Amino acid sequence: MPIAFDNSYARLPERFFALTPPTPVPAPRLVRLNEALADELCLDAAWLEGPEGVAMLAGNAVAPGSTPIATAYAGHQFGQFSPQLGDGRAILLGEVVDRAGTRRDIQLKGAGRTRFSRGGDGRAALGPVMREYIVSEAMAALGIKTTRALAFVLTGAPVIREEIQPGAVLTRVATSHIRIGSFQYFAARQDIEALRLLADHAIARHYPHAAEAANPTLALLEAVISAQADLVARWLLVGFIHGVMNTDNSSISGETIDYGPCAFLDGYDPETVFSAIDAHGRYAYGNQPSIALWNLTRLAEALLPLLAEDTDAAVALAQTALEAFAPRFQAAYDTGIARKLGLAGDGEADTVLGAEFLGMLSAQGADFTLSFRHLSRLQAGLADEAPLRAALGDDPALADWLARWRNRGAGTAKGSLLTVNPAYIPRNHRIAAAIEAAQERDDFGPFETLMSVLAEPFEERAAFAAYETPPQPHERVRRTFCGT
Ligand code: AMP
Ligand code: MG
Repeated sequence: MPIAFDNSYARLPERFFALTPPTPVPAPRLVRLNEALADELCLDAAWLEGPEGVAMLAGNAVAPGSTPIATAYAGHQFGQFSPQLGDGRAILLGEVVDRAGTRRDIQLKGAGRTRFSRGGDGRAALGPVMREYIVSEAMAALGIKTTRALAFVLTGAPVIREEIQPGAVLTRVATSHIRIGSFQYFAARQDIEALRLLADHAIARHYPHAAEAANPTLALLEAVISAQADLVARWLLVGFIHGVMNTDNSSISGETIDYGPCAFLDGYDPETVFSAIDAHGRYAYGNQPSIALWNLTRLAEALLPLLAEDTDAAVALAQTALEAFAPRFQAAYDTGIARKLGLAGDGEADTVLGAEFLGMLSAQGADFTLSFRHLSRLQAGLADEAPLRAALGDDPALADWLARWRNRGAGTAKGSLLTVNPAYIPRNHRIAAAIEAAQERDDFGPFETLMSVLAEPFEERAAFAAYETPPQPHERVRRTFCGT
């Protein structure tokens, strides 16, 4: 058997999913296979690239051992509750155990209609598939918890969105696809038995220590709160904007999931929004911590029946758990900013320095990633102050700030900031250019180059110098789309 599938989710009761084989496509063409990830998953890259492998990745054949399912979930979308969403265009092929012993889902995105498709076509367009491939792999290279991209194929069939686009299928890998919305689905139906089974499943898979706790559900909730607090801090520290933090796009594992209209900041402005559907800025860069807490509050509500028999007691437990979010997030964020500046982060002076640096960035609309990189080069003795000063628009406050920064020992701190502050992030205009070349000219060269750049985000390479810089005014991308 080419893939050692073991499908624990498909062994849950039938109301957790719909058995759904993928719908075949006319002309599958493998564009990209992530060989390093295939190896991590103990998959045979040569088999995946061959006819049987490509047929599986396109949804044209069900591999031996696979039990294709579309999972049921609910969710709050932009604050509005939908009791039934579910995998409308994603099909879970099954699970494998990777080299490290971790269970991983292998899922096709864009593999045809399911019972949860509602009015949708169950398909994915090339542009959004490439965006997810690029950004999720970039996040992984930056060391941020995320779903991964194993492969994508062109289907040979167009999909109709605002424009006609080539159709594609992404193969996505996650430690699970259990979302806050998965719990909400059963809570909304008052199906306490299913809620219990799902909690047990999530605990076994992600937080096995919770099984030993006096109140395993509480321990699960606490673990998810911590994981999400840490995750969102990491997002802010690299300038990532998820763009559509609905509860159905919020993973129990604490992985970044469901890359839609996501984007990285260029100029630093906490109110930045790229998503074309986020008219009110609900999911703006700086709102992400409070939205994560809002989502976790929905998770806590869904778990109430399991937290305690008495509702008041359950609510009290949930509230105490949720109160841990803010300090956890703040500590992760403050520590992260201190690291980015080479400060110990052990005193008020460091907090002030961090806030002042960000203040200069926002006052000047300075490029977030490049400014930290210039500071890193200054600290490493690879550059003088001039590039940083230029990036900060000659802010007169910089000289005094640098003097105090050096006083704190940061100018000579141990450990290079060059390994903390990336040179390369998946900038919007680069993603747009890679997608355009593929769509318009069937040219995947810019995509391949971008993937090479992003694979080693901290490793400056002279040939890729242009990938460090922010867009020229005419290159700037102001809007991103989820493309559903
Ligand atoms: P998303 O905002 O991409 O996370 O999707 C929200 C919901 O819409 C999920 O239930 C998806 O499965 C569903 N959906 C998105 N795009 C499609 C599509 N093209 N066909 C069917 N369902 C879709
Ligand atoms: Mg989603």
